[in-house]
Amino acid sequence: MRRATLLCVSVAFPVVLSAQGAGPSRTTLLNHVTVIDVNGSPPMRDMAVVITGNRITAVDLAGRVRVPPNAETIDASGKFVVPGLADMHHHLDTGFSMPGLPGAGRAGPQDFKRHLAQMLAWGFTTIFSPAHTYPDLKDFTSLRSAASDDTAPLARYFGVGRAITVKGGHASQPPFVWPEVMQAIIAEAHALGLRAYVHAPNLRQAKEVLRAGADGLVHSVVDAPVDDEFIGLMKKNRASYTTTLSVFAAFADVAAWMQRLEALDERGVIPKKVFDAYTSPDGARNYYAAFGTMTKEQPEYLRSNVRKVVDAGILVLSGTDTSVPGVLIGVSSQMELILLVEAGLTPTEALRAATINAAKMLGRENDRGTVEAGKLADLSCSMPIRSRISGTSARFLASSKAVSSTIQRNCSPPTAEAARPLTS
Ligand SMILES: [Zn+2]
Repeated sequence: MRRATLLCVSVAFPVVLSAQGAGPSRTTLLNHVTVIDVNGSPPMRDMAVVITGNRITAVDLAGRVRVPPNAETIDASGKFVVPGLADMHHHLDTGFSMPGLPGAGRAGPQDFKRHLAQMLAWGFTTIFSPAHTYPDLKDFTSLRSAASDDTAPLARYFGVGRAITVKGGHASQPPFVWPEVMQAIIAEAHALGLRAYVHAPNLRQAKEVLRAGADGLVHSVVDAPVDDEFIGLMKKNRASYTTTLSVFAAFADVAAWMQRLEALDERGVIPKKVFDAYTSPDGARNYYAAFGTMTKEQPEYLRSNVRKVVDAGILVLSGTDTSVPGVLIGVSSQMELILLVEAGLTPTEALRAATINAAKMLGRENDRGTVEAGKLADLSCSMPIRSRISGTSARFLASSKAVSSTIQRNCSPPTAEAARPLTS
């Protein structure tokens, strides 16, 4: 049997459970806020967003909205609101530890909750893991259930549990799964009503897994420009394409990547020694020894491929591969949006990759992903600090999950508790 280049496959429930815990039924008015519509309209200024319980109940002009009596009013002048952001490739670890160093940054189950809280503080209400780090899946399910509670100050946690590979294998290193086995895994997943998401970042591998029926690629194609055959297979499968430009940016030039992340971490949430470790000559040398180097063409393939798949109408998802050494928690998820814009996406396209497209992948687009009446009040608030992501000069500072009582806190800069520096 021919050895395949296929790497690993993750299987996910096609419909992921939404939050079950209803928030308190009080009403909050987020007044005079600028709403950024991910459908491509210009930012809508001086708007009112009414939230009752865990739902948005009205979005209208501030002077026109009907506000129920006893609503708690928050003056959000000067703030922006977008749908809660999602990082659709995230393994819940910090990404602090240098390759080969045991311990540092290797989170345990308790830390995972703290990391979900951190993601919320970075503006992300949802993360999706294509492989849960710990073998005990009870931890995975209890974490997922805790994070789905609207009242928990944690980003919602979706994912597939453990990834499937061969004994001794890893997503990026041989031995790999044979193509016949890959086909059987995907067929079995489909027979069970599950979806299969595959790590296959090279064009030939990506086509093989798509022919086998894959429902999504968890990385961009890095080694070659995507072609018509690839686009055709993606469309046929209605497959999603998770960008992870962050992990490739780290692989391309880890020192430059760290400098960019440090500049974006204006609150100083990431310990300075983490940046220093990666930018030192030894750090960079160790990094490339562990991960290899990229050709000078590959960063351009990544950018042009993202542009091509968006143009082809494929469901593109913003994701980072946070937890890979150097792909640092939170700040990388924000940087991914910037990288998408640098790759040629419009700010709206980048935001869609992190909002409504993520909701579609989870089968929850009727319930979240836009700022509209009837949807879950998962929101990301921002302040006009500087123009990094969009022409609106918005930058995401914090998000709020579907509970009116937390909107006030989260539409201001994060609390000292949420933003306290992480330990490495
Ligand atoms: Zn990964």
